[in-house]
Amino acid sequence: MRWMATVLVFLGFSACDQSRSSSGGKPLVVATTTMAADLVSRIAGDRVELRGLMGPEVDPHNYIPTLPDSSLLERADVIVYSGLHLEGRLQGTLEAMAGRGKRCVVLADGVGEERLLSPQQGFEGTPDPHFWGDPLLWRDTIPSVVMALSEVLPGSAAEFETGGRELADELLELHAWAKSRLQEIPAERRVLVTSHDAFFYFGRAFGVEVRGLQGVSSAAEAGLKDRSDLVAFIRLRGIRSLFGESSVNDKGILAVAKEAGVSVSPEPLFSDAMGRPGDRVEVAGESYDRGTYVGMIKHNVNTIVGGLK
Ligand SMILES: [Zn+2]
Repeated sequence: MRWMATVLVFLGFSACDQSRSSSGGKPLVVATTTMAADLVSRIAGDRVELRGLMGPEVDPHNYIPTLPDSSLLERADVIVYSGLHLEGRLQGTLEAMAGRGKRCVVLADGVGEERLLSPQQGFEGTPDPHFWGDPLLWRDTIPSVVMALSEVLPGSAAEFETGGRELADELLELHAWAKSRLQEIPAERRVLVTSHDAFFYFGRAFGVEVRGLQGVSSAAEAGLKDRSDLVAFIRLRGIRSLFGESSVNDKGILAVAKEAGVSVSPEPLFSDAMGRPGDRVEVAGESYDRGTYVGMIKHNVNTIVGGLK
């Protein structure tokens, strides 16, 4: 029944074409997280009208769509979202829209199943959604975005292809840089303790041991036993610094640090949202914008190295 699938795709495409006239001639692309919006922006430049739903410091696990969000999603020619229940309160809506023929790119679908991690606790049956922590897995999501954009704007397919290739090369470089920079931390101290379990892909990619306080979803509260186990672990390993996250309340991690007698890094890490657009910093003679995916990873790596080295 392959032809049927083709017909359904075609019907979805027609619906998209109708909505395009309402967004100034350019296709309207709606991305959920700041990382997803950055990905589209890098590939499409200003050839599409890009709208992001979640701003910096917004926690996607707990994000509740507003009425204007729903209207934006209805008008979108392409919706790009992360998937694996990261957008916990939005995923049902997005799946229903895809079922009605809306063109949706689920970034997690670009990552091979064998590369996905099982969460440590909770969310049984659903892989850990934080795959952008590994730049090489993030790189794997590029082709599906290039393809969807090329379908809605075939005249710009070559430009999307070029944008995708340039980003893919940059992510390869970023991965190599991060790996080498993190090696500056002595192996026994290369342990990352954060607010929630968002860094397992990051840890696997770069050989960093990871412990989170809250579990894979920031929506889960850490129990007393989790806390005392973590305090014991921090003391045992002689860990010097813990790390908060920009999109997660740091009350829990501050309490653990106090109990364990260690500090929390003054700079929070970016886990589920990037920094503010244009937040340019210079570290170790290198300048980058923390409101981009590349800048987010560089900030995290430099902050971790600064705290643990
Ligand atoms: Zn998360």
